[in-house]
Amino acid sequence: MTDLFDLEHIWHPYTSMLNPLPTFKVKRAYGATIELEDGRTLVDGMSSWWCAIHGYNHPELNQAVTDQLQNMAHIMFGGLTHEPAIELGKLLLKITPPSLDKIFYADSGSVAVEVALKMAVQYWAALNKPEKTNFITTRSGYHGDTWNAMSVCDPVTGMHQIFGTSLPNRIFVPAPQSRFDGEWNPQDIQELKQQIEQHHHSIAALIIEPIVQGAGGMRFYHPEYLRQAKALCEQYNLLLIFDEIATGFGRTGKMFAWEHAQVEPDIMCIGKGLTGGYMTLSATLTTKQVAESISRGEAGVFMHGPTFMANPLACAVALRSTQLLVEQDWQANIQRIEKILTEQLKDLAQLDHVADVRVLGAIGVVELTTNVDMKTLQQQFVERGIWVRPFGKLVYVMPPYVISDDELHYLLAQMSEVVKNMQGVNANVLA
Ligand code: PMP
Repeated sequence: MTDLFDLEHIWHPYTSMLNPLPTFKVKRAYGATIELEDGRTLVDGMSSWWCAIHGYNHPELNQAVTDQLQNMAHIMFGGLTHEPAIELGKLLLKITPPSLDKIFYADSGSVAVEVALKMAVQYWAALNKPEKTNFITTRSGYHGDTWNAMSVCDPVTGMHQIFGTSLPNRIFVPAPQSRFDGEWNPQDIQELKQQIEQHHHSIAALIIEPIVQGAGGMRFYHPEYLRQAKALCEQYNLLLIFDEIATGFGRTGKMFAWEHAQVEPDIMCIGKGLTGGYMTLSATLTTKQVAESISRGEAGVFMHGPTFMANPLACAVALRSTQLLVEQDWQANIQRIEKILTEQLKDLAQLDHVADVRVLGAIGVVELTTNVDMKTLQQQFVERGIWVRPFGKLVYVMPPYVISDDELHYLLAQMSEVVKNMQGVNANVLA
């Protein structure tokens, strides 16, 4: 079933070329369905790493790409501009925190993070504080795979061991422990407070994923953490960067996760669901104050300009995707998904080998007591007609919002069976 050329020559994400994990060849995808080359169909629980919010092959998104293609697929953004970038920008400013006013389009989530970090450093340089170049962040975070994004990912589950001293040294504090739906423990903020007090002279910004730590552990934490973190940033002159790449566009039940805490960042990164998963596009938004300060600095400009910046096809489909979202009662839809996730996953918490079950918006997580054998589990999921890709101790779903009740029930029933059958199995470490 695995394609031989693919197996021999094509590198897949986080995969060995000596002992690659099997891949399943996809023929087409539509709605919440992935159809394999051999004719089997799978109900999608992943939204293609959380981006295909409206599902696959959506007629209106297809149309947006087709229409734009008649005008131009791409045009450089240096010295030129176009309608899709402008209209998308207008819509983004309506749905993001009111204090954000300037938009920098970039190519991917990781690049949006690089851009945010560069903005923070240039900002302080412009304000005559060139010593403020470092970053502080929490453990269990994930911000992307490029160099500086990697440096602020969790140092244990991230890639720090492999890249060692080639990565810049960042300041890490423990991940927030108070659960989203639990009591706030004031101890939670203490280490951040101490580290900021001690190192604020050298720190440009605090970077954090608001409310949901995604690829670093699928953890949902208390909004009070963000409120207190914001107060510390203000007190000690740090910029606050929210990485909303995974949490954006309704996933947590709010349009963006900052709304759970009502805390506005100075810089915010968005991506993934921005184009409805059609193609790669991200944006880094910032305040007038940050943008104008950078522009008044010695350099006078912000030093970044990707070749495919604000690609018109990507902007056109992002505009249509975001319109589609805001035009519908998306809150009710996310609540529908959340209700089914909560009802159908809760019993798994009784199992000895399940450490925790948690749900927020359209995210359902089953945390096991040991790491899963991804190869075996993925095979079992496919045999049962669902697409779920676990990692570490986590079996989780983030389905496309178009998933029907029946599809979602099927997805969760099959996933639950696999999790139940793991009982007594000595799960291998493979993640
Ligand atoms: N930040 C967060 C919070 C993410 O979840 C991701 C991707 N999983 C990224 C950044 C990186 O985005 P990309 O893979 O598009 O570079």
